[in-house]
Amino acid sequence: MSDHLLMLEGLAATYNHAIRALSHVSLTVRRGEIVALLGANGAGKSTTLKAISNLLHAERGQLTHGRVVFDGRDTAALTSADLVRLGLVPVLEGRHCFRALNVEENLVAGGIGGGLSRGEIAAGLERIYTLFPRLKQRRRSASGLTSGGEQQMTVIGRALMSRPRLLVLDEPSMGLAPLVVETIFSTLKRLNREEGLSILVAEQNSTVALRYADSAAVLEGGSMALSGDAADLRGRPEIKALYLGSP
Ligand code: ATP
Repeated sequence: MSDHLLMLEGLAATYNHAIRALSHVSLTVRRGEIVALLGANGAGKSTTLKAISNLLHAERGQLTHGRVVFDGRDTAALTSADLVRLGLVPVLEGRHCFRALNVEENLVAGGIGGGLSRGEIAAGLERIYTLFPRLKQRRRSASGLTSGGEQQMTVIGRALMSRPRLLVLDEPSMGLAPLVVETIFSTLKRLNREEGLSILVAEQNSTVALRYADSAAVLEGGSMALSGDAADLRGRPEIKALYLGSP
């Protein structure tokens, strides 16, 4: 078994058949690793994550080239739902909770989507409430009325209900207070340490992401500008020069 859980090779993507959003993007996530995908606004982070999750649509003029291999398997012929069943679960930008449902119903929806039995859903809820005690307090609140941080925890919890092997997150820190950002990243780190969950996280907040990640890659104008160990990249002047919007 290869220790590479996810491999992108020469990924390219366009919007409307014309706008080139990505070119020659290659990236590896090893089993048990946290990888940060950094870059300024518009650098191509979201497009990369959508391409990985097979969420770009040819019929809308969104095309990808290159190869994505998840757990030894070329994903070209798979749907995003197939990928979730195989353990590649995205948490996309925008905290899309089912706003009219309460927090617990959102979590249960993740369990149902992941094909869990009743007993597994009950155990899953307990696990999520241990990881995010705040969600237990808010479990009967309509998720649309909860705070931004609680909504972020809800969508991460919903993704965790389907027991991912690779969690793919798009800008979890966006618009959140520093303390909430720390809570979210330290919980992700805990899942990584205790359960070996592999994580690919796109972030503009390079300071936080590089503190929690094992390795990182920097996108600039849709191409890979830099990659390496997070600890090495932390002190690199190029990181600061990229203006990643970090505090
Ligand atoms: P952000 O932090 O703003 O989301 P990003 O690094 O995630 O930035 P992308 O959203 O992947 O970057 O955008 C990469 C490029 O593709 C940008 O030039 C953007 O304008 C363009 N783009 C993104 N989505 C679309 C779309 N639906 N239609 C056309 N162009 C798009």
